[in-house]
Amino acid sequence: GTMLQHWARERPNSTAIAVEGAQSRTFAEWLQRSSAIANGLRARLGIRAADDRRAQPVIGFIGKNAVTWGEVMAAASLTGACAVPLNWRLSRRETAQIVEDSGVAAVVAEAEFLPLLGYAVPEDGRDRLIVYGSEPQDFENWLADQTASGDFASPEREDIALMVYTSGTSGRPKGVELSNRSISVNLSSEVPWDIRPGDVVMVPAPNFHLSGTGWIFYCLAVGAASLHVLEIVPEKVLDIFASGGVHHALTVPAVVHALVQHPTARERTYPELRTLIYGGSPMSPTIADAAAETFGCDLVQSYGMTETCGPITFLGPEDHRRGGARLASAGRATSVVEMGIFDPMTAQRLPDGEVGEVWTRSAMLLSGYRNQPEELAAVLRPDGWFRTGDVGYLDGDDYLFLCDRAKDMIVSGGENVYPIEVENVLMEHPGVAEAAVIGVPDERWGETVKAVVVRADRAPEVTEEELAVFCRERLAHYKCPTSVDFTAGLPRNPSGKILKKDLRRPFWEGRE
Ligand code: AMP
Repeated sequence: GTMLQHWARERPNSTAIAVEGAQSRTFAEWLQRSSAIANGLRARLGIRAADDRRAQPVIGFIGKNAVTWGEVMAAASLTGACAVPLNWRLSRRETAQIVEDSGVAAVVAEAEFLPLLGYAVPEDGRDRLIVYGSEPQDFENWLADQTASGDFASPEREDIALMVYTSGTSGRPKGVELSNRSISVNLSSEVPWDIRPGDVVMVPAPNFHLSGTGWIFYCLAVGAASLHVLEIVPEKVLDIFASGGVHHALTVPAVVHALVQHPTARERTYPELRTLIYGGSPMSPTIADAAAETFGCDLVQSYGMTETCGPITFLGPEDHRRGGARLASAGRATSVVEMGIFDPMTAQRLPDGEVGEVWTRSAMLLSGYRNQPEELAAVLRPDGWFRTGDVGYLDGDDYLFLCDRAKDMIVSGGENVYPIEVENVLMEHPGVAEAAVIGVPDERWGETVKAVVVRADRAPEVTEEELAVFCRERLAHYKCPTSVDFTAGLPRNPSGKILKKDLRRPFWEGRE
């Protein structure tokens, strides 16, 4: 709210946020519309800042349109409420869990996703639902009826600005509570790129991921514009880069790979493109070199997670230009965080070169997991260190090398999948006695989900197809197994733990 008011004064007519090929808003328009939404929420739903922080109202949003989400997020901030982006890739069951857990007072929903919320038609939602993008309850008409001025609350430092749901090793979705404090500390971090008011940043991540939403407020903080693209088609991205409309772009190594391999990539020039920022994994030296050569721009890698409210390390342009072994690193801690490698058993800090768990401490960390204090206690120590669940080591110059994941997590097409969640669903099927879920290599998605299942004795023989349908009804599609193997028994260690490494080995041999 405060940042938006600032830029609406300083650069009222500059583009602030846009969806590729669709709407765009200037800072002034954004503030005007957010103020109207805030007044509408106050009038219609009685949403206002609560005296008691624990009773802070929550406003949900489900939709692909980042412009509307930006407006709703700012409106929430103006009323002292907390905003929650809902993941439209989830199943109805998963969505219902999150709607209930977050305790949303209102949801602004794109009409397309009403069935996901359990509503057949807009009227079903009654007064809790504000639908945009379709008749009959037109969002624009509703907005036009609201006044755009008024007294708005100043944000409280410890108030929760944003809640982002993630999956986790517990198998239950967790609402990561991020305060105004976490966000402002993140924004005060020194960054290895040169971004100025008026710059445009291409953001391909969906708004229900912190990477998508984080860039909205990062751009807002510096007076730049975020340009949101939902579908990454290499041809189109190259067009956007070549047209000069983008100065910085967020990507992942797989996308950079696809871009530099595109037949027309080297036929064009990209004089305006200054930085490619990527995360999720390191980039191979060949792709890094090809990208620097093709685009003539800087490369920056970041590493972070939802719970850290943004990047905790950067590998900057200098390190990319120098190349060599450091390209496999995630870089060094940012200016606002502490980072160390610890032995998770003894909590002893480990010397350089030794592999352990990555821990971080900073004012950027989450305030809590909604309704799950025990989950917070498991990862946040009383001395302030947060256990990331990632495994790695530091070289003698503080560069972090991530080697493995302590957490049992599959990354498929950029989405994180926690096997336990899929295993729990499989175990609900009467035909399944035991189930183990692993990630196997996949050309298109990097990794894909595979289930290894022991059939139940007495039940009629369950088939792969049956399990596929069963999962699709209960889980987001990207979490559903793309293949199922049936086996007589799962490999276990003496204490009964399933040996996932043994299950994974045949698929990964020679690749890792
Ligand atoms: P999320 O909370 O969904 O953003 O997922 C965060 C996780 O993604 C981290 O804990 C890491 O396991 C992984 N990750 C993020 N950035 C990187 C990176 N640059 N290199 C390797 N893994 C990464």
